[in-house]
Amino acid sequence: MVAEIIDGKKLSHELKMKMKEEVNQLKKTGVTPHLTVILVGDNPASKSYVKGKEKACEETGISSDLIELNETITEDELLAQIVKLNNDKSVHGILVQLPLPNHIEEQKVIEIISPEKDVDGFHPVNIGRMMTGQDTFLPCTPHGIIKMLKSKNISIEGKHAVVLGRSNIVGKPVGQLLLNENATVTYCHSRTPNLKEYTKNADILVVALGKAHFVDENHIKEGAVVIDVGINRTEDGSLTGDVNFDKVKEKASYITPVPRGVGPMTITMLLSNTIKAVKGLTSGE
Ligand code: NDP
Repeated sequence: MVAEIIDGKKLSHELKMKMKEEVNQLKKTGVTPHLTVILVGDNPASKSYVKGKEKACEETGISSDLIELNETITEDELLAQIVKLNNDKSVHGILVQLPLPNHIEEQKVIEIISPEKDVDGFHPVNIGRMMTGQDTFLPCTPHGIIKMLKSKNISIEGKHAVVLGRSNIVGKPVGQLLLNENATVTYCHSRTPNLKEYTKNADILVVALGKAHFVDENHIKEGAVVIDVGINRTEDGSLTGDVNFDKVKEKASYITPVPRGVGPMTITMLLSNTIKAVKGLTSGE
């Protein structure tokens, strides 16, 4: 079996074109969705992510601005800046680019963002809403993964989904969203012994470890759906996933590439959340 590739870049473009229409409709009513991004310090990777977000906003007609803050900013000053944005009616979505410098407690920052403007979907209120199956801002990478599966009509209900990784931004929430779609979910992490015993039973395998080419053909069963979240930089500077794509594609039924896979979908779901922030939570998909 040779896997069908789920092209995240193509799907992301299609979704963005639909969003552009939605944004145009909103503009006719006098509202332009607005995202404010806060970047603290000058981490090159963060700068490049922020650029990608600004570009994607432009493509859909969403307006955005970037607040660049010096790495020496105090935690209190940053929190005060966010409170100001919470109270600014022209700002619909607030995103603080992570990671933050060590002297700033990330969780404090996440929790001060108004849940109604939390387009990253990281606020505990929104995580709670997701867990209880309520309408909310879903975290972008996990939401993008569900969209990718649905775009290919891959059935999730009743399937065994195995998630490699249990981070708060990817592993845990993607498992929850798969559960919300009625999959039977197993989480694996660094303390899981005999990992292959679990991965080989997966109908859907989501890999979010941050370890280049960790998963090969011996980890999966014939016909599995393999979603590669990993972004790893190789020696020559190019990007590669957590899955050995060339080997695994010969055995899987569907596979996501890196690049052009989950990455573009993450940004696209951020745009979707920004539009949702204008329309209100009950107007969800
Ligand atoms: P984290 O480092 O926060 O989490 C990694 C997880 O993998 C942890 O739960 C860890 O287990 C587990 N793990 C590490 N090594 C092993 C191992 N040998 N066996 C089993 N489990 C292991 O990473 P993130 O979730 O933030 O990101 C994962 C990858 O996804 C990274 O490459 C990141 O760059 C990428 N990413 C991509 C995005 C996209 O848009 N495509 C968005 C976000 C992230 P434990 O908890 O026990 O330590």
